[in-house]
Amino acid sequence: MLDLTYDAPAPKVIAGAQHDWELVIGLEVHAQVSTNAKLFSGASTKFGAEPNSNVAFVDAGMPGMLPVINEGCVALAVKTGLGLNAEINLRSAFDRKNYFYPDLPQGYQISQLYHPIVGEGKVLVELGDGTARTVRIERIHLEQDAGKSIHDMDPNMSFVDLNRTGVALMEIVSRPDIRGPEEAAAYVGKLRQILRYLGTCDGNMQNGNLRADVNVSICKPGAYEKYQETQDFSHLGTRCEIKNMNSMRFIQAAIEVEARRQIALVEDGKEVVQETRLYDPDKNETRSMRSKEEAHDYRYFPDPDLLPLEIEQAWVDDIAASLPELPDAKKARFIGDFGLSDYDASVLTADVENATYFEAVAEGRDGKLAANWVINELFGRLKKDGDKAITESPVSAAQLGGIITLIKSGDISGKIAKDLFEIIYTEGGDPAQIVEERGMKQVTDTGAIETAVDEVIAANPAQVEKAKQNPKLAGWFVGQVMKATGGKANPAAVNKLVAQKLGL
Ligand code: ADP
Ligand code: MG
Repeated sequence: MLDLTYDAPAPKVIAGAQHDWELVIGLEVHAQVSTNAKLFSGASTKFGAEPNSNVAFVDAGMPGMLPVINEGCVALAVKTGLGLNAEINLRSAFDRKNYFYPDLPQGYQISQLYHPIVGEGKVLVELGDGTARTVRIERIHLEQDAGKSIHDMDPNMSFVDLNRTGVALMEIVSRPDIRGPEEAAAYVGKLRQILRYLGTCDGNMQNGNLRADVNVSICKPGAYEKYQETQDFSHLGTRCEIKNMNSMRFIQAAIEVEARRQIALVEDGKEVVQETRLYDPDKNETRSMRSKEEAHDYRYFPDPDLLPLEIEQAWVDDIAASLPELPDAKKARFIGDFGLSDYDASVLTADVENATYFEAVAEGRDGKLAANWVINELFGRLKKDGDKAITESPVSAAQLGGIITLIKSGDISGKIAKDLFEIIYTEGGDPAQIVEERGMKQVTDTGAIETAVDEVIAANPAQVEKAKQNPKLAGWFVGQVMKATGGKANPAAVNKLVAQKLGL
């Protein structure tokens, strides 16, 4: 059996029966463009609408209907290209990719084969072990999505829902620069993160909003380096393409079983056949969908209904000027400005909404303390509360910031702050006001603390004797005083007074 462990990060080098093998992976990611209208019609893109309710005549392939390009989709594709450090092609063109399928009423998909809107770019991908590498983007093109065939509503009939027909997709094609399952998932994760920061794709993988075709091949150690030197694909093994993956976990699993299948084949003296395969998560195997011989001949040709798409550099510059701060930059800034650890900065920038929330809490306050509260208290509480998103948090950034201000000023202790947080989480309200009204202020008045210390000492003469022998027992007194004051005594003051009174 080949050494391919499932849960542990898969090794780049896989031990075969005869010798070692390496993985080579290239991804074609389909990202649905976040616009309200479709790529070539004004029909709505709303997810989950009544079947066939969002269909314009052009989407339904009615004779004589003409496509009209949606400028918003073009702008978001350009924005995506800029966010992925890619070249923007001021002139691109649309082609027809011809094939027959019931969910494709036009009989062709409008795509960009020869002149995509975005050229070469690159993405920095961080791995679990703290290392990072660059994955090159080959191109991004705009294309139409197809409709959906529904086979499970009736035993004898199939239905077609054209709501998705004509929705704009960006196909983001990587170079075969990905070297393992973990990297593939990290790459998709990073793309998703950047697209969500840009607001160009919702990245909802469950809804099929972001899905990937995963190309996998194996090669002997050293072959990939030769490919990189020469950019000659013949140094690489024959690839298989696993279609339509919409889960990070399945992407990793599919790459692993597919690699295992290819290694077994080659070591058995057989050849890998270039083909399209499907991953079956129930059986954890890939199955052939169609081989290269059966592959469609799409008879691509320039779409005569659409002029080449020409955009101006000034427009591209405007879009560039409107780009938000992206994850890598934001993370570096959080580390620099707020003194966060690499890990905390990663967690807080994973999603743009988390980052925005954190910044509002941290602004003008202790960044590390703010990070601690957001990551440990708030995220923990939201998770317990049915895995709520930060946008659904009952505690606003202003409220959490208020709690942190009260901790820093010494008004409340860390322990009381947790109680206060829970009160605000469940009941809402203004932190300072609640502290005032419910008498939660930390007692820093030494007179009051002194009285409490004296009382505890007077009530426990035996303990006092023991503590005099063993100063470590002073902690017990501190605990008793804290208890007596309802956790409100300033712990530092209590420590000091207990030591003093016990003569330690
Ligand atoms: P096609 O249009 O037939 O799908 P492309 O040249 O566009 O072919 O390549 C599709 C994807 O396959 C790209 O992401 C590319 O990086 C990847 N790819 C190409 N060759 C290999 C290989 N030998 N192993 C793994 N991936 C590959
Ligand atoms: Mg392809």
